[in-house]
Amino acid sequence: MSKQFDVVVIGAGPGGYIAAIRAAQLGMNVACIDEWQNAQGGAAPGGTCTNVGCIPSKALLQSSEHFEHAKLHFGDHGISVKDVKMDAAQMIARKDAIVKQNNDGILYLFKKNKVTFFHGRGAFGKAVEGGYEITVSGKTAETLVAKQVVVATGSNARPLPGVEFDEQQILSNDGALAINAVPKKLGVIGSGVIGLEMGSVWRRLGADVTVLEGMPTFLAAVDEQVAKEAKKALDKQGLKIELGVKIGEIKKAKKGVTVAYTNAKGEDVSLAVDKLIVSIGRVPNTTGLNAEAVGLQLDERGAIAVNDLCQTNLPGVWAVGDVVRGPMLAHKAEEEAVAVAERIAGQHGHVNFNTIPWVIYTSPEIAWVGRTEQQLKADGVKYKAGSFPFMANGRARALGDTTGFVKFLADAATDEILGVHMVGPMVSELISEAVVAMEFKASAEDIARICHAHPSLSESTKEAALAVDKRTLNF
Ligand code: FAD
Repeated sequence: MSKQFDVVVIGAGPGGYIAAIRAAQLGMNVACIDEWQNAQGGAAPGGTCTNVGCIPSKALLQSSEHFEHAKLHFGDHGISVKDVKMDAAQMIARKDAIVKQNNDGILYLFKKNKVTFFHGRGAFGKAVEGGYEITVSGKTAETLVAKQVVVATGSNARPLPGVEFDEQQILSNDGALAINAVPKKLGVIGSGVIGLEMGSVWRRLGADVTVLEGMPTFLAAVDEQVAKEAKKALDKQGLKIELGVKIGEIKKAKKGVTVAYTNAKGEDVSLAVDKLIVSIGRVPNTTGLNAEAVGLQLDERGAIAVNDLCQTNLPGVWAVGDVVRGPMLAHKAEEEAVAVAERIAGQHGHVNFNTIPWVIYTSPEIAWVGRTEQQLKADGVKYKAGSFPFMANGRARALGDTTGFVKFLADAATDEILGVHMVGPMVSELISEAVVAMEFKASAEDIARICHAHPSLSESTKEAALAVDKRTLNF
């Protein structure tokens, strides 16, 4: 006998598990299927984000930052620590424990919200009256019938053509987050978010890290001034970033990997490394869904084709997160998930793509929302800019981290905030104020007139808003 549900969600990453919980909150009978397995073969809901993405990468960034602080900065505080050592295996074990807490947290939330969880692969089965048959193949096989289906099957790391991930020498994010001894030499192909975060972790722990990037511009999507400041800081830390390279042959030896490439000057270079991380983007994942059998349309990138409401070409089938167009970010997946659950319930779910924040968790952190200065110029928008350096912020000085600045871009005529760009300490947290401001269509003047706690990094946000009108108080 097949089990009947109002909604079946395939995938329990941030898109899937949030869709399931919100639909259950709205009174629907919901199932969520996810195939991710932990090392013991058990269920590990949370998707890429929890298992091999956002959460484990931030755990390793934190550990490696502590290590670097102990080595380089504790002395400034009068704290002496002798012989600081890193036990990478312990760092990885801590990361694994954090991942497990998150997996268990999601299972708890499913119980709390009465979402029925199935561990296994979900696929479209035969057409049935008034809905869709969904098969689950795991340790046991199940057949479900759903009135509505939400596909949230995420994405996978993109390999270089002809170079397979073995997760020992040639690593995707999966392997990069599980290295349990610091490599002497590490190569990273791709200077996007993942490449820079992973490169930073292992550089802080003592690896000699070279990042090879095909684009001639560093972080082309980021505001130019911010990208320049970030590059200066990362260069100073010893992260070797080579731009404008053309990758040639990649050869695996018994130990290590050799990467042949042509550098920006046109010279042929051979780079020998112990391990190579390939982080050149991610591809939407529809493997095993049996999408073609039901005629689910994909776009030219292999993503599930959806309209603005996340509706696919099949009535009652929705798709959210990395498997559809738009930025591959966990919080974007979550917003789409909530909106879809609310639309299924007959409400008006809404996602504002203009106010999705972006963060790169390097040191200094990089965060932004809205348009960059180069985009405003290209769009012919008249704007005013104002920035404030962390060097002039008392809290940043007390923290011992004064790198970077906050920059506001506001409409020249109306003063409405069009973009906020930050590079510096804890800007991953500071950016939320800018998101709220833009969501409420605030002006730079609005932020400039709000009382901010002293001493706090957030005062730099207020001061940058004041700078738009050339009236900073502390700089
Ligand atoms: P996923 O999280 O990929 O989840 C999809 C789930 O579906 C998986 O569990 C998969 O096993 C399951 N699945 C797939 N097919 C089936 C099937 N047929 N049946 C059953 N289950 C199936 N984003 C941020 O916002 N902030 C960050 O700091 C950040 N850091 C990142 C760091 C790294 C190293 C990586 C790789 C990514 C990072 N991301 C970050 C991106 C973020 O992880 C993704 O945007 C997010 O996980 C997408 O969520 P999703 O639910 O769409 O898909």
